[in-house]
Amino acid sequence: MAATIIDGKAFAAKVRGQVAEHVTRLKEVHGLTPGLAVVLVGEDPASQVYVRSKGKQTVEVGMASFEHKLPAETDQETLMALVAQLNTDTSVHGILVQLPLPAHLDEEAVLNAINPAKDVDGFHISNVGLLGTGQKAMVPCTPLGCLMMLREHHGSLSGMDAVVIGRSNIVGKPMAQLLLGDSCTVTIAHSRTKDLPDVVRRADIVVAAVGRPEMVPGDWIKPGASVIDVGINRVPAPGKSEGNTRLVGDCQFDSCAEVAGAITPVPGGVGPMTIACLLANTLTATCRAAGLPEPEGLTA
Ligand code: NAP
Repeated sequence: MAATIIDGKAFAAKVRGQVAEHVTRLKEVHGLTPGLAVVLVGEDPASQVYVRSKGKQTVEVGMASFEHKLPAETDQETLMALVAQLNTDTSVHGILVQLPLPAHLDEEAVLNAINPAKDVDGFHISNVGLLGTGQKAMVPCTPLGCLMMLREHHGSLSGMDAVVIGRSNIVGKPMAQLLLGDSCTVTIAHSRTKDLPDVVRRADIVVAAVGRPEMVPGDWIKPGASVIDVGINRVPAPGKSEGNTRLVGDCQFDSCAEVAGAITPVPGGVGPMTIACLLANTLTATCRAAGLPEPEGLTA
């Protein structure tokens, strides 16, 4: 194996440590405790796990965690009223509505009702516009984590050819904007892209955010390229009893690692960075709201 393994778990721990130091200082010097409110509607098991993990890590870095668990049958009006209340609550600096929402709720309307200054997921239309025009925004956590890892590994990304596979609003598109912001030459590939292997072979940086298990083989990777695997796919675990599963990314780890210069593993790569960046965003939102300087290295 030639590639350097980018250890997202260790990097996320470092980011959380930096956030915790800033939080201690905010409390001591300014009497400010950053607060993150997480809203969960319904009982989706994966969402429950994420919300629990977010709450735990929020408290661990010294922030206040406010969890709002609403029943699956909650109506739009009730959810909008809760968002409106959190928007005006001065102890809440960040608001996250866990997705997906139950099908009867209008996700877009809920996300756009969040005060953009507290929109720590970066999904509000204002933040999307700010990021797209290169202005100070709240940046979606997963692509922010990918950018931080790339900057840590490469230093400057200026002039590099980057291919982002996937054009979702939560990963692919903001990832492309961030790479463009760091002066990469960016291609966004998707399900209609022609000759995807050839497109990927040009890239110094490949970010795969597709949701198809091990779709990208090593022979698509330019020797020495950096591979950031965002995919989280559960597949049957070979050789184990029926029903056992394991997690794989969108890239074939072993064959890509033989060719790449650096690669993120799944699990232990992009995943842990996402919650760390949520905490970083909550800290950033707190500092901005108080008119204090933003923590260095924790924003785009
Ligand atoms: P999504 O909304 O389903 O978007 C998938 C994208 O992949 C779409 O743009 C789609 O193209 C493209 N695509 C599908 N098949 C393709 C193919 N054969 N060739 C090229 N492109 C193809 O997914 P997402 O929300 O961005 O998530 C992507 C993956 O990242 C999932 O595995 C998800 O679980 C994971 N994820 C991980 C984290 C984390 O914290 N690590 C966070 C978020 C998501 P079209 O637009 O043309 O359909």
